[in-house]
Amino acid sequence: MADNEDLTAGSANDKSGHDKSSNVWDIVIIGGGPGGYVAAIRAAQMGARVCVVEKDELGGTCLNRGCIPTKALVASVSVLDQIRQASVFGVEVGEARPDFSRMMAHKQETVERLVKGVQYLFKKNKIALIKGTARLAGAGRVEAKLADGTQVLAAKNIIIATGADPSVFPAFGHDGKQVITSDEALSLSEIPGRLLIIGGGVIGCEFACIFAGLGTKVTIVEAMPSILPMLDKEVSRQLQSYLKRRGITVKTRIKTDTIKKGPGEVTAVLEGGEEIAVDKVLVSVGRVVNTAGLGLGEAGVAATARGEVIVNDRMRTNVPGVYAIGDVTDSKYKLAHVASRQGIVAVENIMGKDSRMDYGAVPNAVFTLPEAASVGLTEDEAREKGLEIRTGKFAFIANGKAISMGETEGFVKFIADAATDRVLGVHIVGPHASDLIAEATLAIRLGATSAQVAETIHAHPTLAEVAMEAAEAVHGLAIHA
Ligand code: FAD
Repeated sequence: MADNEDLTAGSANDKSGHDKSSNVWDIVIIGGGPGGYVAAIRAAQMGARVCVVEKDELGGTCLNRGCIPTKALVASVSVLDQIRQASVFGVEVGEARPDFSRMMAHKQETVERLVKGVQYLFKKNKIALIKGTARLAGAGRVEAKLADGTQVLAAKNIIIATGADPSVFPAFGHDGKQVITSDEALSLSEIPGRLLIIGGGVIGCEFACIFAGLGTKVTIVEAMPSILPMLDKEVSRQLQSYLKRRGITVKTRIKTDTIKKGPGEVTAVLEGGEEIAVDKVLVSVGRVVNTAGLGLGEAGVAATARGEVIVNDRMRTNVPGVYAIGDVTDSKYKLAHVASRQGIVAVENIMGKDSRMDYGAVPNAVFTLPEAASVGLTEDEAREKGLEIRTGKFAFIANGKAISMGETEGFVKFIADAATDRVLGVHIVGPHASDLIAEATLAIRLGATSAQVAETIHAHPTLAEVAMEAAEAVHGLAIHA
């Protein structure tokens, strides 16, 4: 469907039995990121007439400026790493060097392919798409500002899925050149020689691995006692030592005071006076919700002091017929897969099914080198809840597949309830952690015990056997320990 087509009668999915002659959309979704576009597809599958208003590209932050482009770059760096170790595997190749412009082209091709995929799915599901900036315009109304005018859409239900943008600390003098955010880091034309990353969260650590792998001298400055503070302490400690081994300098418990810009160089002054001169500073200290100009106040939609739209577990706001999903909400999980699930829950409720968000088993993956991933409670969280726990740990270095791949860093750690043996949390640092966490997520969601995971036959030789042996280790029974 062409952008800005007149979106009234007849342009909708006709499986619904809804009144096709009506000019009222069943659902208007503001924002086409992984929250909005997934919600739109599920709504169409369920027979709703649905229209998405997106001001930029379909796929949102995730496809265009987040998950996907970063993973494309991590994949390039992994290839470089592998080639550098090729002789260990009996493969002789010449010197491996990054071709940064080709690497960025690979990233861009990956993004474009996936965005086209979503465009195709919209056509296939007969979802209307308007290119414009939307705002709430009174009960059941959305106004879309188009390139050549405005269009008002009438909607029985509205889903706000406008996401978030990088926080720009004015004090740090963000200029998109010397002081950048993740958005600009994804479109650099040259590999910086020296890079300071303010913030050792997921985004900061992923960029640290990307640029360190390309030869950049990387320093991370983190105010908290450890990088990736949301991870189990043992995992973040181990990962920090791996990052150091990759040549990344990590400074924790210290804040950046000021940034001084000079010709060709920028200097960060840390608390206590230490100065670090670099080519670029990447500020990665969180994200701000996209609600400016959305008309939340006029529409009476309640938000937190930080502007996050307050939702319940059915993704309803306080205004009937207005839902919100994804990064724009007050949910503590700012992840693409959570946004998508919230989109499905919102749509199911709109379509008459009683559906609730279950945050009991939300996997979290960090695409560093090596990766980290977790689900459920950390050891500290379990103890804070007063739970008696047993833990089991198994290292990749004792696993046949990991040894043959030459990727032996890390471990899997299971946390189980001491009384019931139910799996409470699983934490991984090591190869393919982001894939391995799926089994643990299912185990927690289904209320499995660590014994049940241990008794499940795992294919040999696989990295997944490390999870099985960690589950065995909860009972002191890991075979290869
Ligand atoms: P978004 O993806 O931000 O989409 C919102 C959309 O709304 C945008 O397209 C925007 O243009 C549009 N919009 C905003 N306002 C309006 C308006 N008024 N009118 C019309 N359109 C509007 N998460 C993971 O799970 N895994 C990862 O590996 C991962 N890596 C990341 C790496 C980086 C560098 C970044 C920045 C983020 C990463 N994330 C990752 C987070 C993930 O991208 C977000 O959690 C996810 O995109 C949120 O989805 P959303 O649909 O809520 O919002």
